[in-house]
Amino acid sequence: AKSAGRATFAFFEASLNSAAVKRLRLESALRHALARGEIEVHFQPKVDAAGRACSVEALARWTGSEFGAVSPATFIPIAEETGLIEPITEFVLRTACSQAAQWHRAGFGPLAVAVNLSPRLFRSGSFAAQVAAALADYGLPAGCLELEITEGTLMDEGVDAIEQLRALKALGVRLAVDDFGTGYSSLAYLTRFPLDILKIDKSFVSRATEGEGEAILSRAIVTLGRDLGLRVVAEGVETETQWKLFAGAGCHEFQGYLFARALPASSADAWLAANTAT
Ligand code: C2E
Ligand code: CA
Ligand code: CA
Ligand code: CA
Repeated sequence: AKSAGRATFAFFEASLNSAAVKRLRLESALRHALARGEIEVHFQPKVDAAGRACSVEALARWTGSEFGAVSPATFIPIAEETGLIEPITEFVLRTACSQAAQWHRAGFGPLAVAVNLSPRLFRSGSFAAQVAAALADYGLPAGCLELEITEGTLMDEGVDAIEQLRALKALGVRLAVDDFGTGYSSLAYLTRFPLDILKIDKSFVSRATEGEGEAILSRAIVTLGRDLGLRVVAEGVETETQWKLFAGAGCHEFQGYLFARALPASSADAWLAANTAT
């Protein structure tokens, strides 16, 4: 019995080790990913109530030689813990600005582009300067850049984030609260921060058509956003029923597999050509 116990323990230790080892190997591969050109930016369209493109969200993609395609749900948290999120965000931001300016020159104006921001970026005081430089370098009007910040980030960083958000806002970029409805019971922050856009989380959108109570709540959230003067976006729209419910409630923009997945720039190009009003 004693040796069986030891064997179980050894097995447990080995599997713990392999998880830790895998994480370390991912981390060290991620350290070289940018320099090796393994990080790409894909673009997921957002449409208006008529189904026409109004903006695109830039989403990071990592395909490495050792691990193949790694989900952002796996590598973004590692990037956040290790500080690699700073150069990755810089890359996503610059690629997004460059691509949006290119789309404007191709006649898809005034298409906006959205970039996701991690809490860590608010710890250095220079993020607004980086954004200003990217806009200037690619000639993208500030009003065409949206920065998405999760409600978790707003709550965690609290007062510290306000100064940074004001500096970003002063550039003329638009600020979005991302993943709205995923767990913060306080709504006070909606008026405390200088926000422009409210993105209703996909977990919420997927529940909206489950019953009358869910539908009432969804309409109330859209109304709340609109009454606060925010542009309201429903994310993760997968069905016509969800689209109609949110459009009927007065939601301004829709994002989800019903319209398009995140696409590499060249495919996004073709999608925009087919779905932009001229
Ligand atoms: P997010 O910002 O909430 O982005 C939306 C996620 O939902 C994306 O997943 C998108 O592909 C997915 N999605 C969109 N429409 C649908 C739909 O209709 N159904 C379903 N089931 N999913 C849909 P993705 O690209 O895997 O990204 C996951 C998360 O990783 C993002 O969530 C964001 O938090 C983070 N992320 C991705 N790129 C970046 C980045 O460059 N910087 C930072 N800080 N985070 C990023
Ligand atoms: Ca987002
Ligand atoms: Ca989101
Ligand atoms: Ca989300």
